[in-house]
Amino acid sequence: MPKPLSHTDAMRFNRQIVLPQIDLEGQERLAESRILVIGVGGLGSAAANSLCASGVGNLTLVDNDTVEATNLPRQTLFDETQIGEGKVIAAKQRLEAINQACAITALSTSIHAQDINALIAQHDVVLDCTDNTDSRDAINKACVEQGVALVSGAAIRFEGQLFVYKPRASACYACLRTLFDAPELSCTEAGIFSPVVNIIGIYQAMLAMQLIMEVGEVPLNALLTFDGLGHQWQRWSLPKQPNCPVCGE
Ligand SMILES: [Zn+2]
Repeated sequence: MPKPLSHTDAMRFNRQIVLPQIDLEGQERLAESRILVIGVGGLGSAAANSLCASGVGNLTLVDNDTVEATNLPRQTLFDETQIGEGKVIAAKQRLEAINQACAITALSTSIHAQDINALIAQHDVVLDCTDNTDSRDAINKACVEQGVALVSGAAIRFEGQLFVYKPRASACYACLRTLFDAPELSCTEAGIFSPVVNIIGIYQAMLAMQLIMEVGEVPLNALLTFDGLGHQWQRWSLPKQPNCPVCGE
């Protein structure tokens, strides 16, 4: 059983607690949860903001970038006074001002410079908010090996994608990659419509919280895509691949 919430916190999160699907127990689970956000760019800043404000108890942020002026149109955790600062340090300052009860661990480093398996094993859910295939592959592999849930997000131009891996219950991100070759395009080259990356980041936060609280149906064995020009969400079936190099037999 999770630790009971204080009276002050029960009042603070009352609008969520009154939802019968969440209730006091769901909020308490959130308060005890440990979520790892890898990449604090557009996706990561939207996700971390929503997780912290909603009452997640422990957040770890990993990123070795510094805040630049070109980040500000979509990375809404940062402001003009923080240009040149490390992203995780700037994000920690902002998140602590939103919810003091959320313990923030800021790791100003590349995920590849870490013992990724040990780091992932310390968390309940991992959010992949990175923008390159090497990191995505390494994060997925470590999540499968450590049996930790993964919520992967991507956004480019007017399009977004979401994918959830649940240990022993679904296809993994490498299953998806056996079917589709991920194009190696960055937002720098291809561009990104700012609201789209925020929508996908907040959606990642929602899926992570739903996994922790066991609320609703989280899409498994599926790829969700969002088209910001036509305002369409689509859900593509993606069964576990027996020949998957990561989770296959
Ligand atoms: Zn797989």
